[in-house]
Amino acid sequence: MKHGKAAVFLDRDGTLSEEIDWVRRPEDLHLIPGAAKAVKRLREAGYFVALVTNQSAVARGLISIEQLEAIHAHLQQLLALEGARLDAIAYCPHHPTEGMGRWKLKCECRKPKDGLLRELIARHGLDPAQSFVIGDARRDLEAGASLGIAGILVRTGKGRREEALLTHPVIVADALPEAVERIVGSTAQGR
Ligand SMILES: [Mg+2]
Ligand SMILES: [Zn+2]
Repeated sequence: MKHGKAAVFLDRDGTLSEEIDWVRRPEDLHLIPGAAKAVKRLREAGYFVALVTNQSAVARGLISIEQLEAIHAHLQQLLALEGARLDAIAYCPHHPTEGMGRWKLKCECRKPKDGLLRELIARHGLDPAQSFVIGDARRDLEAGASLGIAGILVRTGKGRREEALLTHPVIVADALPEAVERIVGSTAQGR
């Protein structure tokens, strides 16, 4: 089936929310200015909007899965205040070398691996060819590139540092609202 839904896969820290050293409590998470309106705009344009995030804070023992889910519930509340929401939230709690216990493992879902994207595509009937990844790190874009998903790097979070390290041409936007403008603007022009 070639005509799945178009999706936008958003990184969390530094892309949708402000980059800080470890979000441990819901109140530590703050949206990038204009982020909620940008998500709302994508959904109104017909995109399935999913969060795709590496959260090795779990593997490192800094937070539990329950605390991570409370942080994400808070994120949905912040978005809802502006009429937006995420259609799906996918996270990798693992780390290949840090931490201990069952989360310390070389998984297939930690970006730049594409496991989370594959699972979302299969579960929700999404079409990679019509979809985008937006992130502040090269590894966010690499995860999508292996599946043929277009990437946009944002200059928030780690983005400016990452931009300097790019080895091939990539679309770069100042922040999430500008990245969404690139997507919705081009859709409106029938591209
Ligand atoms: Mg990030
Ligand atoms: Zn993982």
